[in-house]
Amino acid sequence: MAEIEREAMEYDVVIVGAGPAGLSAAIRLKQLDADLNVVVLEKGSEVGAHILSGAVLDPCGLDALIPDWKEKGAPLNVPVKEDNFYVLGEAGQIRVPNWPMPPLMNNHGNYIVSMANVCRWMAEQAEELGVEIFPGMSCSELVYGDNGEVKGVVAGVFGLEADGSYGPNTEPGMELHGKYVFLSEGVRGSLAKEVIAKYDLQKGKEPQKFGIGMKEIWEIDPAKHREGTVTHTMGWPLGGNAGGGSFIYHLDNNQVYVGFVVHLNYKNPHLFPYMEFQQFKHHPMVAELLKGGKRVAYGARAITEGGYQSMPKMVAPGVALLGCSVGMVNVPRIKGNHNAMLSGKAAAEAAYDAIQAGRQSDELSDYETEVRTGAIGKDLKKVRNVKPMWSKWGLVPSLALGGLDMWTNTLGFSLFGTLGHGKTDAAATEEASKHKPIDYPKPDGTISFDRLTNVSFAATNHEESQPCHLRLSDPDVPVKVNLPKYAEPAQRYCPAGVYEVVEDDGGPRFVVNFQNCVHCKTCDIKDPSQNITWVTPQGGDGPNYPNM
Ligand SMILES: Cc1cc2nc3c(=O)[nH]c(=O)nc-3n(C[C@H](O)[C@H](O)[C@H](O)COP(=O)(O)OP(=O)(O)OC[C@H]3O[C@@H](n4cnc5c(N)ncnc54)[C@H](O)[C@@H]3O)c2cc1C
Repeated sequence: MAEIEREAMEYDVVIVGAGPAGLSAAIRLKQLDADLNVVVLEKGSEVGAHILSGAVLDPCGLDALIPDWKEKGAPLNVPVKEDNFYVLGEAGQIRVPNWPMPPLMNNHGNYIVSMANVCRWMAEQAEELGVEIFPGMSCSELVYGDNGEVKGVVAGVFGLEADGSYGPNTEPGMELHGKYVFLSEGVRGSLAKEVIAKYDLQKGKEPQKFGIGMKEIWEIDPAKHREGTVTHTMGWPLGGNAGGGSFIYHLDNNQVYVGFVVHLNYKNPHLFPYMEFQQFKHHPMVAELLKGGKRVAYGARAITEGGYQSMPKMVAPGVALLGCSVGMVNVPRIKGNHNAMLSGKAAAEAAYDAIQAGRQSDELSDYETEVRTGAIGKDLKKVRNVKPMWSKWGLVPSLALGGLDMWTNTLGFSLFGTLGHGKTDAAATEEASKHKPIDYPKPDGTISFDRLTNVSFAATNHEESQPCHLRLSDPDVPVKVNLPKYAEPAQRYCPAGVYEVVEDDGGPRFVVNFQNCVHCKTCDIKDPSQNITWVTPQGGDGPNYPNM
């Protein structure tokens, strides 16, 4: 094939992803020097279209970045008023009182927000400062310089033929070069994954761990709505099958965020995270809340859970990884947005200093030092043993021991040192023959919904004629290996019903309905054969979330 000719544009800093990390970096760079050329590229059709969090926002990141955010009209309108934590059984619940909880678990001073709307507002702030933001532009490739450094990205490739070749309607995109490239793609970023592998950035660290988070927005009966109330649950229906739990956040306008997280290190390949979520809503406490209401949106996204000990090295020549491309979620708090913002700010400050000193395309080691030893590192270090304890000992012992460890860490020490995570989530999956299939009740269409109906509430869309962005390294593995060994779990772990095994005359066949994909990245993480690679589809495709 002839060499592809692309135009190139030069910037000081090229930022991939308009989430809280990328937008914070852009804002901070322009605050430091209005003359810097900064571009942000976002694959969603608009900023916020692919943003999915809970979200209870700890405003410490925003306070550091834009101290007058209130005067500037940031959409943080619902302060947390009430914090509840329950352990659920099938028919009832036990409330865990707030007093034994370590102070870091307290949500006082936090806000229930739509992170999609917060990002939309941050994009306005960035544009006012002169940042160029291009939504609908997927960054599909990295561009390397002569010395192996990351020099830029390729963005805006449209209209490829279904086999990936160039056709009459193909637009080859352009190269955007920067003195530094920031990858703020969020969890399991596809370019970040390439950089981590190329420069061996995970070496000497624990494997990254993940959960799958699913979320619905409900409009409920105003009589039941309690603005500012935050509820978390654990226990039923997951029981001992997997770690995880739920969140229920009452925002404004009689809306409630109802979400469910399943840790992806579960062993039983018959487990069906989406159906666990649907079943959870039938718990009497939850069903009573939702009765008479309606679900108005649905979405899903993986969440990083490895924490402090899993953060890879986050800089390589010319490139820095930000936010959840590194994995900065404080797992017991289910919060990562504040750290994403702080990491964007820290990366911007390191790049500004470097550019001022006449440097470019090298490693921003000051950024890494700030993350590990500054506010982010301190936040994550205190809770580093919670997830490994849960994985090793299950819910109840880890509640007690994790609580104790968080308390002692708050005082500056740990009785446990730093525990490891062990296997990757893919490797944690055991053979189907070792586990019993799980019988899930059929969704009732009122409180629980079948997967494809719910996916229509994610408003996801992919141009059908383009190549499938879920690439199988070996197309035979799903039927020849995964089906006999693991009952092909892709049929269940995908929260959007992308993967099916259909039986026809020729026997079982693996079907990939990539049009349904909501860009959660679970397949890339959990496939036990590590045979699926998620790459960016063309810009503008994917979910179109409202106020997620
Ligand atoms: C269900 C759930 C609940 C959560 N609840 C909370 C909570 O209550 N509070 C909290 O603080 N945190 C919460 N989190 C964690 C929080 O969402 C993350 O920590 C945060 O989103 C990380 O921000 P980020 O900027 O690194 O990435 P993201 O917010 O994921 O943003 C990345 C952006 O980059 C874009 N992008 C990715 N790849 C490309 C590419 N190649 N080209 C162009 N654009 C690209 C994406 O479309 C996206 O817009 C939750 C997460 C989940 C999944």
